[in-house]
Amino acid sequence: MELNTHKLLAARLWAVRRYPYLTAALFASPIVASPGLKGATVDESWRLYVDPEFVDRTSIEILGGLLVHHAGHLVRDHAGRARSMGVERTMSKDWALAADAEINDDLIGTGLRLPDDRIVPHELGWKPGRLAEEYYHAPHVDTESEPDCGSGSDGRVRDWELPDAREGSGLPPGERHLLRSQTASAVLDYSKGGAGRLSAGWRRWAEDMLDPKIDWRRVLAAEIRKGLSTVSGRVDYTYRRPSRRASASPDIVMPALERPVPEVLVLCDTSGSMGDEELATVLAEVDGLLKGVGLARNRVRVMAVDAAVQTVQNVTSARQINLVGGGGTDMGAGLAAAAKLRPRPSVIVILTDGMTPWPREAPKGMQVVVGLIGNRVQGGRTWPAPQWARVVPIDAAA
Ligand SMILES: [Zn+2]
Repeated sequence: MELNTHKLLAARLWAVRRYPYLTAALFASPIVASPGLKGATVDESWRLYVDPEFVDRTSIEILGGLLVHHAGHLVRDHAGRARSMGVERTMSKDWALAADAEINDDLIGTGLRLPDDRIVPHELGWKPGRLAEEYYHAPHVDTESEPDCGSGSDGRVRDWELPDAREGSGLPPGERHLLRSQTASAVLDYSKGGAGRLSAGWRRWAEDMLDPKIDWRRVLAAEIRKGLSTVSGRVDYTYRRPSRRASASPDIVMPALERPVPEVLVLCDTSGSMGDEELATVLAEVDGLLKGVGLARNRVRVMAVDAAVQTVQNVTSARQINLVGGGGTDMGAGLAAAAKLRPRPSVIVILTDGMTPWPREAPKGMQVVVGLIGNRVQGGRTWPAPQWARVVPIDAAA
């Protein structure tokens, strides 16, 4: 069957009329006919793959909605974000649900009709208005839906996708970035004009896109989650949900494997060079972040370290933390002590001004995220950050 390009172009016009701020993005996607695909997907080079038979049996309105949905994956860079979250194949369904929830939430808010099997956050028991990164680790209602929107939504290349953009038809990375920026300014213009409905999610995305300042809270949260997903990804994730066979035969209790809850340790630099107020602020943030990623509260241990380990406390909130110390600095001492703790921490968040020596190598079996406060300049010298850790600069005033 030949691809009905007229119908597809009509669907694109339908989409452009309702979402004028997506015009550039919608027109940027080259169309590739993919018989047998049974739907439509996008790749990371912004190509749109469609099954001619699917186009034939689907209304212009639904096709238009799908084009808007896929443009959402592309302009929001879900592929790049999945990569920085460390999404692997075993977890890709969870990312697909999270990414679709992020997009569709905003689209339904603007009155768009989507296919019946679309994902929306409230139907999965999620609060609306969140980012995919937040949904990704949040527990959800079991669902049969397994959206597959292509590598454009998770960065993993599919069998039916063409080789990369250099083959001619896709967009090179520079152009994708340009289109994202253009789309973001179109979104903001649209919201200023007050001409139509624009969801808060789109506006927030556009503001983030155009604002060059890095939100350390978000970056730190993403790094912590990345560490957590590396740890929890070690178990076959598909066993986490209750077995469907169990619900079909209530007499038999099926074992349901749980993902291990990662042990998180917050290691606080309490040497003389650290400001109390800065530390308190940052601790409160980390406290919020850990709760946000759904960890059991009593799992969070806090260790105060200057040149030696001062205290290790199990805390349920940042207010209980007793930051003692005030001497010289050696975070290596803290890491060595952390490796001896039982249960052994799997993710360590180090909050420090960075004016410390570091061990040459990463501690074994522990994911380390370093939140660096201040500029690390002391006596005209800048202390190096460890190469083996994920490092996030923290601006305590932000
Ligand atoms: Zn999707």
